[in-house]
Amino acid sequence: MIDISYIRAQFPILETKIRDKYPLIYLDNAATTQKPIAVINSLLDYYTKYNANVHRGVHYLSGLATDMFEQSRVAVQEFINAKHSQEIIFTRGTTESLNLLAHCFAKSFLSQADTVMITQMEHHSNIVPWQIASEDYGFKLDYLTFDDNGEIEDFEKKILSAKPKLLSICHISNTLGTINDIKHIIDFCHKHDCLVAVDAAQSIAHKVIDVQSLDADFLAFSGHKVYAPMGVGVLYGKKDLLDKMAVYHGGGEMIKTVTMEKTTYNGLPYKFEAGTPSVADVIGLAAALKWLKEMSFEDIIAHEDEVFQYAANRLKEVKDLRIFGNAKDKSSCISFLADGVHHLDLGTLLDAMGVAIRTGHHCAEPVMQKFGIAGTDRLSIAAYTTKDEIDVFMQSLDKALKMLR
Ligand SMILES: *Cc1c(COP(=O)(O)O)cnc(C)c1O
Repeated sequence: MIDISYIRAQFPILETKIRDKYPLIYLDNAATTQKPIAVINSLLDYYTKYNANVHRGVHYLSGLATDMFEQSRVAVQEFINAKHSQEIIFTRGTTESLNLLAHCFAKSFLSQADTVMITQMEHHSNIVPWQIASEDYGFKLDYLTFDDNGEIEDFEKKILSAKPKLLSICHISNTLGTINDIKHIIDFCHKHDCLVAVDAAQSIAHKVIDVQSLDADFLAFSGHKVYAPMGVGVLYGKKDLLDKMAVYHGGGEMIKTVTMEKTTYNGLPYKFEAGTPSVADVIGLAAALKWLKEMSFEDIIAHEDEVFQYAANRLKEVKDLRIFGNAKDKSSCISFLADGVHHLDLGTLLDAMGVAIRTGHHCAEPVMQKFGIAGTDRLSIAAYTTKDEIDVFMQSLDKALKMLR
């Protein structure tokens, strides 16, 4: 069993009093997670003991920083069970990973007759890069839609008729909480010559991900959604695909030789890692993954599922409150709207009581358009969320609704 007070004690920020009065109830974990002291200390350690640029210097500190940086790559490799460490590309986050993928995949593999499929439930960072690449390279962009419950509809039919070369899809929707059956999706797509990229930004902290057993072709996530610092993310890709893919940013690190006429490129993973990386944050990411394993990731997932179910059941009891996303398989976040109450007003009143939720379109405007709304209120949980906090949230919600209605 999980010792939740032991976990909570490792997050200094959870002791914050909002406006010197209300204990912080942090329910905005889908936007970013808080950081355990092990991660904070890894940053402090780096900047106090071995800050140096990586892969360049002959000197001692550079060697140390490089070792730690490359060990972090192996830590990520192990966390998602990638076959090779060169399959782990460090980026600034999911957004950069998906921009890299859209640009380089299109440049290398797509012609104007080809189609890329995404879905109506994607985060903007899995929509806009494909729209930009589609304009630049001329391939077709098509969408899988979702039904009123927030489940992808007509998946097989649509893949068979559109015959996409690639499907890029979220594992867990950051707005609806829908868990897409990514294993089935990948199996089916592969049978029909379609590769699959997984946006794992929401799932990385809430699901055990094994890219080999999933047979995912690409997978992207951000460190800051899995207890690591902001400024670092990952693009995983199968080695043979990444090897064939054109480079992205140009600069230091990604080259083999440069003359005034021509440049030859470095091998994997460096050909995609131009310029000085966020070394401390990469090391912080490894510290976060190590921390998660030490706390027992499986136990955390079980705890989260329990808190999630509890929150979902309690919210269902609230009169005249609509929940957006009622998929059979859901995780970690719940979007809702109280009838007659603007999402921003509710969020503001909850904040006045120390409860932090997200309000707005959650970077998923097509989801809002589907339901004909401008935004929702969203609560999202993490390892340190307790049922007691959900109770405080419910009391605060009750108070706020009485004031607003
Ligand atoms: C947060 C999120 C992103 C974007 O991540 P960044 O860290 O802002 O780059 C993409 N997709 C999903 C599902 C997300 O939750």
